[in-house]
Amino acid sequence: MSGDDREFSFNDPAPGDPDGEDGPPLPGGWIQLTSERNRRAAEIYAALTSTGRLRTLRPEPLTYWCAARCSLLDVITLPDGAGVILGVPRFKISPGRNDATSSAAGRKNNTEDGRRRWKQHANLLGDVNRLTMLSCDHLHHVFLPDEAIQEDLEARRVEVVVRRDGTRYVVR
Ligand SMILES: [Zn+2]
Repeated sequence: MSGDDREFSFNDPAPGDPDGEDGPPLPGGWIQLTSERNRRAAEIYAALTSTGRLRTLRPEPLTYWCAARCSLLDVITLPDGAGVILGVPRFKISPGRNDATSSAAGRKNNTEDGRRRWKQHANLLGDVNRLTMLSCDHLHHVFLPDEAIQEDLEARRVEVVVRRDGTRYVVR
């Protein structure tokens, strides 16, 4: 799912979801569809980051940075109302701080090296959380609410810096 350069369409149906439409109106079906949609979001985000296309997308994605310029979150609006991807890039945390702020199980499941290189991940805005957790070496477990992301999208912002206390300021 990463590393190739095949063309993809944002509107490709997800695997196992042949027509790309909503599934049956059963709670179980909805949960399955939701996780399928989020898996698809993660695939698109991985394709964009592994090919470097993320930074050439137009319109530009909305990106949240820390004050030291780590990218914390990429927000990509899919065409045709297909949703908004929230992509958290891979990040690395210095050893002492990493051990102090994570569990052994979390490190095992969510890092690339079993230790402190955290995997990138993605989901669709509104599908999973109401908050996205941001972390880098400079800020930890700062929660960005969906409402803040919506507000920045509506104002067509593309660069926003998040401070340690969770407040943010607009660069452009
Ligand atoms: Zn940082």
